[in-house]
Amino acid sequence: RFMAAEREDYVQRNPASAVLARQAAEHLLFGVPLHWMNDWGTPFALHVEHATGVDVVDVDSHTLVDFCLGDTGAMFGHAPPPVAAAVQHQAARGYTTMLATQDAAEVGRLLAGRFGLPYWQFALSATDANRYIVRWIRAATGRKKILVFNGCYHGTIEDVFVDLVEGQPVQRDSLLGQVHNLLEHTVVVEFNDLPALEAALANGDVACVLAEPVMTNIGMVLPEPGFWRAAQALIHRHGSLLVMDETHCISTGPGGYARAHGIEADAVVMGKPVAGGLPSAVYGMSAALADRAVQAKRQAPPGHSGIGTTLTGNMLAMAAMRAALSEVMTEAAYAHMLALAERLADGIRAVIARHQLPWCVTQVGARVEFQFCAEPPKNGTEADRVMDPELEHLIHLGLLNRGVLITPFHNMMLVSPVTTPEHVAQLLGSLDEVLAAIAAR
Ligand code: PLP
Repeated sequence: RFMAAEREDYVQRNPASAVLARQAAEHLLFGVPLHWMNDWGTPFALHVEHATGVDVVDVDSHTLVDFCLGDTGAMFGHAPPPVAAAVQHQAARGYTTMLATQDAAEVGRLLAGRFGLPYWQFALSATDANRYIVRWIRAATGRKKILVFNGCYHGTIEDVFVDLVEGQPVQRDSLLGQVHNLLEHTVVVEFNDLPALEAALANGDVACVLAEPVMTNIGMVLPEPGFWRAAQALIHRHGSLLVMDETHCISTGPGGYARAHGIEADAVVMGKPVAGGLPSAVYGMSAALADRAVQAKRQAPPGHSGIGTTLTGNMLAMAAMRAALSEVMTEAAYAHMLALAERLADGIRAVIARHQLPWCVTQVGARVEFQFCAEPPKNGTEADRVMDPELEHLIHLGLLNRGVLITPFHNMMLVSPVTTPEHVAQLLGSLDEVLAAIAAR
C-alpha cells in the first residue's frame, strides 16, 4: 500500500517527466538512454533539467538533494566549477586530434603522485580500463586466467560475470548475448576466504586478481583485518598480479583505499569521477609491470593491439581530468567529505535504532550504506542473501518523493565536497519519515 501511494504521489508530482517519458519511449529502447535508469522504482523515468553541486533539478522544477551522485560519477558534485571552467576553455579549442597534449602529460604526473604507481594510461570508462589492464597483464604474464571475488562488479567487462552458487562457479545468468564460456578463463572465490584464494592460485596459471579493495557492488563487504596483507602475499607468491579497482573506493581518500591501507597493488583502475564525471578513466602500473607490458608490445607482431579507442585521449577529457585531479579531488575536499560521512553514518544508525530495525551501517570514507542485516556480510553470498530489492525500491521512491536521491542499487549514499550538514539533516529526516510510513502501512 505504501508503494501504491508513493507511485501515485510520484505521478502527481511529475507531469512534465511523464510527457517526456512518453515521447522518449517512441524511439529509445526501454525509453531511457540506459536501461538501468528504469531501476528507481518509479512508474516512469524522472527527467533532469540540470544538475549542479548536489542539486538535481528535474523538469517539473523540483530540486532534489543528491546522495547518489551519478553512482560515484559525480562524487565531487555535479559540474565542479574548476572542471566546468576547464571544459569551457577547451570547448572552443578542439577535442580529438590523434596527437598528444600537455594536459595528458600533466595528468600522468598527478596520477603517479596520488596513487604511487609510475605509469598510466587512459580509457573512456572504468569498464574499458579494466578490460585493458587485464589484457596488458595477460600479455605481460603469458597467463590467461583471471580471478575475481563472488558478487563483484567491474563494469560490463564480460570476463567477470561469474558467480558462486552453492559453492559452484557459474556464468551470471542475467548476462545477455554472451557466447564465450567465461568459466574457461575466470576463477571465482569468496571474498575474505584465504584458503580458497590460495587453492585457486596454486596452479600458477592466474594472471591477475581483479578486485575492489572493499566490495561495493553487492552492498558493501569489508575486508577482514589482515585479509589484504595475506592475500597480496599469496598472490605474489604464486606469480600473479593484483589489480585494485578503486572506481568506488576512491571515496576513502585522494589515493584510494589501497594506498591508504598499505596494500601493494601492481595496477590500479579508476573511472567515474576522475574527470569530474565526464567519460574518462585511467589505469596505472608498477614499473615492473610496465616493463613487461612494453616488452610484450615489442615482441608482438605489428598491428592493432586491441587496446585503446579513437577517443581515448580526447582533449576535453584530459583538460577535465587535469582540473579534477589538481583542483577538485583535494585533501581539503576529502577532509570535509570524511567528517560529514561520519555524521551521516551516525545519523542513519540513530534513525535505524529509533525504528528498532536489525540493520547495520557500513562506511568507506565518503561512502555510507545501510544493509538489511545486523552484522555486516563477510562475502558475496552473505551479502546477496540480505538483499531485498523490493524494500530498497520502497525506500528509494519514498525518499525521491521527499526530494532526496540515494543510489537505486542498494542503500548507498555519497557525500561530496559541497554536501552540507543541512543536506544530511534533510536526508535523515526524510528517511525517518519514509521508514515510519512503511511501518504504518
Ligand atoms: N568498477 C567498479 C568497481 C564499478 O562499480 C563500476 C561501475 O559501477 C565500474 C568499474 C564500471 O564503470 P563504468 O560503468 O563507468 O564503466
